[in-house]
Amino acid sequence: MKRLNPNNCSVLVFYNHEQDFASTLDLLSKVFSDVIVKSTESQVISQLKQHSTTSTLLLIDAESCHTKTMEECPPLLLTIVDLLKQGLITNVVPIVCSTLDSPSYMVKCLQSGAADFVLKPLSEDVAKTLFLNVTRNRLLHAESTLEKVEQTSSIWDSQQGKKGQVWSKFRNRLKGVFLEENWYVVFVYNSASFNEYHRLSKLVAEYYTPKPSVRRSSMASMLSWDFSPLDLDNKDLIQVVFMILNHTLMSFDELEALRVPNGDLYHFIFDICNSYHSSNPYHNFRHAVDVLQANYYFLCKIGAIEPMCPMIRSEDPMIKQLLQPIDIFALLMASIGHDVGHPGVNNNFMITTSTPLAILYNDKSVLESFHAMSFFHLLKEHCFGQLTDLRANPEYSIFRKIVVNSILATDMSMHDEYVHKITDQAERIKNIDLTDKSACEKEKVLLCGALIKCADISNCARPFESAKEWAKILAQEFFEQGDLERELGMPVLPINERGKICLEDFQISFKKFVALKLFESICKVTTNMQFTIDYIHENINIWESMKSKREPVDKLVTTPNTIPPQPTPDGSCTPSQRPRSGI
Ligand code: 5GP
Ligand code: MN
Repeated sequence: MKRLNPNNCSVLVFYNHEQDFASTLDLLSKVFSDVIVKSTESQVISQLKQHSTTSTLLLIDAESCHTKTMEECPPLLLTIVDLLKQGLITNVVPIVCSTLDSPSYMVKCLQSGAADFVLKPLSEDVAKTLFLNVTRNRLLHAESTLEKVEQTSSIWDSQQGKKGQVWSKFRNRLKGVFLEENWYVVFVYNSASFNEYHRLSKLVAEYYTPKPSVRRSSMASMLSWDFSPLDLDNKDLIQVVFMILNHTLMSFDELEALRVPNGDLYHFIFDICNSYHSSNPYHNFRHAVDVLQANYYFLCKIGAIEPMCPMIRSEDPMIKQLLQPIDIFALLMASIGHDVGHPGVNNNFMITTSTPLAILYNDKSVLESFHAMSFFHLLKEHCFGQLTDLRANPEYSIFRKIVVNSILATDMSMHDEYVHKITDQAERIKNIDLTDKSACEKEKVLLCGALIKCADISNCARPFESAKEWAKILAQEFFEQGDLERELGMPVLPINERGKICLEDFQISFKKFVALKLFESICKVTTNMQFTIDYIHENINIWESMKSKREPVDKLVTTPNTIPPQPTPDGSCTPSQRPRSGI
């Protein structure tokens, strides 16, 4: 926590007496770098409502307040205490300053919420120690918050001794589960005021995301359904992202205001790249680029965006008209940002271990809420700040709506609900009135959610060789979570347990019971996505054929940290014989 001294807290003085105040002001200015005087209560309140990250000492001159009796508490003190309780102002420490030296009056002021009481005329010695009230206030606040945090983190306390090797691997990705100093600050601010939410979310984002390390380079990207980022390094992945975003921005006149110098766009993408943990087997920058490329491909397929190179496509005129350039840009941006800072464990783990993030988001779409919030910070800190300031740019409210909704849509716990919604949409969209703005907005938000969901699990609809690689690394991530759970003495689900479920079953059941339902529902909305279903069926066939050739005991048994080579697909359907949907 930042140490306080007289120079890094400001002083606001409420004073409207006729008497000369110059000497007191001189004295305060000697001790504090920032001293402001206000003569009315409303001026004081509006000054305090202005967002400030530093603490403010509020000196209330009792003789400047109108009271019926001498010993009545200054009304301004009561107002300030009330505003603090409501969270309408924060970081304010009120001190009463009076000539009245009655002990009962002094005690009454403290009981009413004053942090201190000082007698006038103020001496230099007293002025020098005033800032200590700010320190004391912060310590008291942190202590009460710490108690709250400790209660909610009891699992971690009891597990302290059990953290071992696996934990140390996850430490950086999950450090928020420890009660480290930053978290006190996060909770202090969280309990302090809604106005501090912005600062709080920035702290959370910074806490979870790694620091920049990669450099740019160039590459020739592959823009077909055969695209696999698994073979690419970060510089090539960054180049793919640059090409897709730049191409989109340059394709539509309506996006001219969002065009930025290439260097700025690269810088933004570097930071996104660095916001993903490269130590996650699956939820890393590669997955984000995969999702971006899948959505770019879908948008080309339905004719909403002109592809960079010619490809076989048939337009879907309705969707083309429904999705405006800003919507397309929002969907692509959501795709690249949708898993930023992913810690490599799932929502269930976050909730059952009472991580601060789960507490912050009340166990609801914990990771997805975090990804969306962190991504908006990245936008704000880079060249896309205008997209995050809706007061100055209300026209971008649809951008935020699509990005937030799309990222939240990737929470798989709402999968079936989404499938129903998309199926219902298929009927409505046929007769949609494109002049009905609010109907169109509702449909496009839902459609973007559907598209990102498809892209998010599109690895199972990719050509088999890449689908298989993705399946292995996802299983690897699940197993690593299982290792951690075991080490912490927590129950481990079969899907996270090495050797419990074979890769074929893992894939066949996911495709049949989860993925197909989604892709079939989107195909009712637009037939241009049919190729995905063809691939899924084909991949199911290959997995089933592989399974039938396996010995029953030949399960996916692994030693920690490794996955054994999988049986190669049978010769019945090689990648070159399968239908292609390449550009
Ligand atoms: P994400 O976490 O990437 O936003 O959402 C995708 C989630 O879908 C993954 O975490 C994972 O749980 C699930 N998923 C994606 N592909 C597969 C797959 O091939 N098999 C299984 N079982 N789950 C998958
Ligand atoms: Mn994802």
